[in-house]
Amino acid sequence: MSRSNLLVLATGGTIAGIAGHAMRQDYRAGQIGIDQWLADAQSLGMEARLTGRQIANVDSKDIGPAIWSELYEAITDAIADDAIDGIIVTHGTDTAEETAFALDLTLPVTKPVVLVGAMRPADAVGSDGMRNFVNAVRVASDPDAAGRGVLLVMGDRVLAARDARKVRTRGTDDAFRGFPRGGVALVTPGALEWFGRPWRESDGARFTFPREWPRVPILYAAAGVEAAMVGRLVDAHCDDPAASGIVVAGVGEGNMPESVTAELARLASEGLVVVRASRVDEGLVDREPEDAANGSIAARALNPQKARILLKILLANAVRDPEAIQAAFDDP
Ligand code: ASP
Repeated sequence: MSRSNLLVLATGGTIAGIAGHAMRQDYRAGQIGIDQWLADAQSLGMEARLTGRQIANVDSKDIGPAIWSELYEAITDAIADDAIDGIIVTHGTDTAEETAFALDLTLPVTKPVVLVGAMRPADAVGSDGMRNFVNAVRVASDPDAAGRGVLLVMGDRVLAARDARKVRTRGTDDAFRGFPRGGVALVTPGALEWFGRPWRESDGARFTFPREWPRVPILYAAAGVEAAMVGRLVDAHCDDPAASGIVVAGVGEGNMPESVTAELARLASEGLVVVRASRVDEGLVDREPEDAANGSIAARALNPQKARILLKILLANAVRDPEAIQAAFDDP
């Protein structure tokens, strides 16, 4: 590995978690500070030079726009700094896919940016944190990691932000999967194998990072879900329904009861952006003829939580034309 200079931005999560006893089931996320973490990592004899900064030390359930904004600023500065070759963000696994995707949509791709987490706290038997971190160091040290957007390292797999999703609440092996692309590389502390060339066509950021993040609720469809839920969600969570959006975590291929479709179509005709995603884990939602009639958008391969992020960013960037919104979902 060449001697690269990496900036490590720490936000907490299980990778910085401590149980206090190897046999305990419960633990506290976000306990180990970045200085301690880097001292432990450097003792492994890594060639990369690591500089740390503590952005937060929280469970990732509490991460949202405020911490995204701090990460965005810190990474933007690091990208502009010739002394830094790559950036690593340590993060809880619960919302890592959302942070990765929000940054992926708003950062340029000129340097490697890699998120990494762990499923087991640092003092658990068989803790995965340090190995995942060393793997992330290898990925972030490789100039070839640039041009692929924000990446997520979990286990020995490298996933693209667009594809990464947490699919298990326990265990280290298959907790994360990529959809529709599986992994984009395999990594170990000693080797890195990319499965293809960088795919981003231009180096620039795709969207401006929002100063204000519009609120976008998710309606979770289920058997018998009532149309009245739509009104309640929109009234409570959309500042101006004529300029806001909603994501439906639909059943199957983004479906919902007729009464819900009708109510959403009525609101769409008044300006609400309605995105149909799927509650199915690997649910691809294609555009259907009814979407034109109902004024809805198909989320394609994005799960509801990622569809929500993309829609927030589109609305914040004043993208409201349905064709432009659909195009962004077709090629996120
Ligand atoms: N609850 C933890 C978090 O997201 C889970 C993890 O990191 O694995 O912060």
